[in-house]
Amino acid sequence: MKASCEIAIVGSGFAGSLLARILARLGYDVILLERGTHPRFAIGESSTPLANLSLERLALRYGLEDCYALSTHGRWLAKYAHLRRGLKRGFTFYRHHPGRAFENRGLDSERLLVAASPDDSIADSHWFRADVDHHFVREAVAAGVDYRDNVSLTIADFSSARAELSGSRRGENFSIRASFVIDASGPGGFLARQLAIPSGLDATLTRASLIFGHFDDVRLMADVVPDLPAGPYPDDWAAVHHVLDEGWMYSLRFDSGITSAGFLLTPHGRASLRADGQDATTLWQQLLARYPTIGEVFAKARPTMPLAFRPLIQHRLTRAAGERWVLMPHAYAFVDALFSTGIAWALRAVERLALMFEAVARNGRIPLGAALERYEALLRREADQIDRVVAGAYKAMSSFDLFCAQAMFYFGAVSFAEASQRLSPDDQVAWRGFLGVGDAVLEDLPRESLQRLDRTLSLRGSVEASGARDDFTRWIRSAIQSRNVAGLADPGRHNLYPVDFDALIAAHDLLGMTRRHVIAMLPALRGSPRPATAPASVKGPIPPSLFT
Ligand SMILES: Cc1cc2nc3c(=O)[nH]c(=O)nc-3n(C[C@H](O)[C@H](O)[C@H](O)COP(=O)(O)OP(=O)(O)OC[C@H]3O[C@@H](n4cnc5c(N)ncnc54)[C@H](O)[C@@H]3O)c2cc1C
Repeated sequence: MKASCEIAIVGSGFAGSLLARILARLGYDVILLERGTHPRFAIGESSTPLANLSLERLALRYGLEDCYALSTHGRWLAKYAHLRRGLKRGFTFYRHHPGRAFENRGLDSERLLVAASPDDSIADSHWFRADVDHHFVREAVAAGVDYRDNVSLTIADFSSARAELSGSRRGENFSIRASFVIDASGPGGFLARQLAIPSGLDATLTRASLIFGHFDDVRLMADVVPDLPAGPYPDDWAAVHHVLDEGWMYSLRFDSGITSAGFLLTPHGRASLRADGQDATTLWQQLLARYPTIGEVFAKARPTMPLAFRPLIQHRLTRAAGERWVLMPHAYAFVDALFSTGIAWALRAVERLALMFEAVARNGRIPLGAALERYEALLRREADQIDRVVAGAYKAMSSFDLFCAQAMFYFGAVSFAEASQRLSPDDQVAWRGFLGVGDAVLEDLPRESLQRLDRTLSLRGSVEASGARDDFTRWIRSAIQSRNVAGLADPGRHNLYPVDFDALIAAHDLLGMTRRHVIAMLPALRGSPRPATAPASVKGPIPPSLFT
């Protein structure tokens, strides 16, 4: 183990490895320290269009051919078929009720499908994290990162001149001096402990427990509930969400046949199931028995790993950066898997940190005060925003029409961001806030939505209840109107939303573009054009296949 480096990154999930590799590309001397080994299981698998946009931008800016390929399902299959993944065409939601099979009521079924891509070739993917994270580590090593696994770090000392990390590896003690430390340890919370960063969880709204695993032989919902009206894509090739009385369940199907699935239980759900003290398998079976259609889907499923239970998945810190250190999003905060925000948020932070280091690569080498404060302030607002959007969705789960309306905020915000980032890209895109943060129209809506949901739900059981729910739906529709480029919140769609280019073209003025300009830019929705030459800032060989 060397005695010094410029940047030490703790944690080799995809975020730590990718950032390590980019910094090495920029000419930094980087060490990447991992407490475990690869390949290893990791949770958090379902990617999204905004995640893929970040991946593509990183690819094109730093000459990372694999990132470009992995940013669409078609390119992934063509070039990296050995890395397991699953086709994700969109977000599928079903509302189930205890003791009752999911009811096929045609277009009135409690079912919401929102397409994220128009076809399979440019679709998103679920990442089989054991393969994908291992790949990113190998690429980091190939780019010159000094990667060490099986590391047990015990001390992080910060002075105004440097940081010092100490610990042991395979029985040998070591100590490394670094100019800067990046904590990518996720919920491992390395710097949270070392710097005694106070928790900020008390000020947040979302709470959930988790039972999860990977399974073989999970049936398709389309086979268990046949003849549902055709949606914009096959229901099961998506991030499938089963909304329940006790919380919700995710089900992500990999192309290899394995399915990743987990129940997220609210404190109320956990109490009503008397979950405490039960083992994960018993709890899992109890939930399958309670929801017959899910029970059928998983009737023959065989876990490929022991089922696991986590009593609380949320964490949140009060600091995300300081002198000579910074936290990646997953080390700073985690809210919930609903709406798959984690990968996109992590990759956005990789972009921001890479830009911060790029800006000082010739002068100073490490980001200082104002840059770190900007990073921290944005992360804080974004963590709050994710929390409010998810907390609103949890509140709305009791009534599927409210839930669908609340979900329209998420889909409105991300589809507007995707369209504007793809159609009018600029160098500052990475610094735009996530989920409407910094957007004068969108930023405050989740807060208002929470208040409106409370009022609406307080009328439950009264004669005004149904009218209040309709009012909420109408309010969301009008609140997102000036950002609605995807034809969302349209009752005529019966909760089945394809990717609608006509709606996008019709919404050209919302994007500040002429109709003709939007039409001319439509090919950009299938992938960013590749640059003709290699980016100047990057050192080392760049795969020629990346460039036109
Ligand atoms: C139930 C659940 C479902 C999720 N589903 C989704 C989803 O569908 N889509 C989505 O976008 N996001 C999802 N997420 C979020 C997603 O998991 C995270 O955003 C993602 O894992 C962040 O990646 P990362 O590389 O920053 O951190 P991690 O994947 O957490 O990696 C951290 C790494 O640091 C290492 N480490 C930890 N402590 C130390 C230490 N002290 N020293 C050295 N190394 C250390 C760990 O071994 C690990 O390799 C989900 C999260 C949960 C909990």
